[in-house]
Amino acid sequence: MRTELAVVGAGPAGLAASLAAAARGVHVTLIDAAEDAGGQFYRQPAAGLGARRPRALHHQWRTWERLRDGLAASTVRHLTGHHVWCVERNSASSGASGRSERSAAFGVHALLGRFQDEPVTVHADAVLLATGGYEKVLPFPGWTLPGVVTAGGAQAMLKGGLVVPGRTAVVAGTGPLLLPVATGLAAAGVQVAALVESADPKGLVRRLPALAAKLPEAAGYAARLLRHRVPFMAGHTVVEAHGEDRLEAVTVAALDPAGRVRPGTGRRIPCDTLAVGHGMLPHTDLAETLGCRVDGVNVQVDDEQRTDVPGVWAAGETTGIGGAALALAEGHIAGRSIAARLQGTAPDPREWAAAASSRTRLRQFFAAVDSVCAPPAHWIEQVTDDTVVCRCEEVRAGTVREAVHGLGAGDLRTVKLLTRAGMGWCQGRVCGPAVAGLAGCDLTPTRRPFARPVPLGVLARTDHPAEADHTTEADHTTEEGPS
Ligand SMILES: Cc1cc2nc3c(=O)[nH]c(=O)nc-3n(C[C@H](O)[C@H](O)[C@H](O)COP(=O)(O)OP(=O)(O)OC[C@H]3O[C@@H](n4cnc5c(N)ncnc54)[C@H](O)[C@@H]3O)c2cc1C
Repeated sequence: MRTELAVVGAGPAGLAASLAAAARGVHVTLIDAAEDAGGQFYRQPAAGLGARRPRALHHQWRTWERLRDGLAASTVRHLTGHHVWCVERNSASSGASGRSERSAAFGVHALLGRFQDEPVTVHADAVLLATGGYEKVLPFPGWTLPGVVTAGGAQAMLKGGLVVPGRTAVVAGTGPLLLPVATGLAAAGVQVAALVESADPKGLVRRLPALAAKLPEAAGYAARLLRHRVPFMAGHTVVEAHGEDRLEAVTVAALDPAGRVRPGTGRRIPCDTLAVGHGMLPHTDLAETLGCRVDGVNVQVDDEQRTDVPGVWAAGETTGIGGAALALAEGHIAGRSIAARLQGTAPDPREWAAAASSRTRLRQFFAAVDSVCAPPAHWIEQVTDDTVVCRCEEVRAGTVREAVHGLGAGDLRTVKLLTRAGMGWCQGRVCGPAVAGLAGCDLTPTRRPFARPVPLGVLARTDHPAEADHTTEADHTTEEGPS
């Protein structure tokens, strides 16, 4: 399959970019693992569920209608159910420098089908990575009990499956995502017993000028929390989830300004659901395989959303967590830039001045949010030795501590080799931040050659397997099962 631009990810960023590029004559192929466009923010209920008012679960429905209708009316080829496991640079081509090139610069390898075992390759002159982000959840005693779900998972159940995870919920952790989750669950009839945010309320007040851009939105959430009588507990954290076979209650405690649990403040709240999230992390696997620069945890881009690899752009939460509006602005800029560059011209940034100013404003806003909304600084003190940290391999906190303090492991890779933490199905995507915190190491990009588990049969049949020099972490595995 051949295209000019392959966009990976049909969330707000990928949709905005695809429409902007297609409107300027670019042949775009939009590839997503999901069955519908929309990404996380505009996740739609499956057609078979017969939702009568899906808009009731969404904000900014008009924007979604514009994107959805725009996609339907455009020339964009939308490939659904395509799980991209690798984007490969064709060494014979330098990438995205014009339509005259005969061979495609990139091979976008995807898996199709119920068992994700049917390989498809899209050959493209340019690639936009718009793969969004995923949730960070830190462990605490009881977090593996049935009834404990991630905040975004609860939201996805509601938006995509029209189901609620339980009858009485506590929503906890940190970050703006907790607000739509708590209000969404409450509006769907769940009794939300508390919204527990670890951010220091004084910090929120101190950063008020920087947060002012979204005050009307915040006021709207506050009004909904009041209407549904949801108690808001800032400066608190969940220290334990209780239950035998499933969740029955959580203990919530107050934090001191240093981020330590204040002794004697624990309060038990009965609930059958805990929706918990400690922020988000960008998906960077595909960018890392391509060799794009990743600064901290974000793919680095310039003002045109170009990465440092010629022909590869990135937009939305893969470049930093910042919400749907920022993803739209970045996608729009990327789409215009790509169209110009593919046509062999330099783009005129004045054409996207409005999107660029939204991008600046929203990046500043989310930098302020980041500086306030953080997990408690001393969260590891609450993690008992018998708490499971790596769920895939069932590695407990005590084993990680023993690897560091008893066996001298000083980095994540050594901890992984000694304990198997991060060697399972998710390849450390879930436990990585927790293991890094417990081990006292930085969470560094891992440069995995595969973004998804790949059957060996597919690898054997792939014409251009991922370059050998990228095989670091998983050189012995297909991510399905390490040897
Ligand atoms: C579970 C979850 C729920 C959320 N719910 C809300 C909410 O209710 N309200 C809110 O304000 N914000 C929510 N967010 C945050 C929201 O996702 C972002 O603000 C916004 O959607 C970012 O847009 P994006 O285009 O960058 O990425 P996304 O919307 O995340 O879109 C990325 C797309 O890329 C696709 N993708 C990723 N990797 C691959 C791959 N390897 N192969 C093929 N396709 C791939 C995904 O299927 C997805 O469709 C949620 C986030 C998560 C993780």
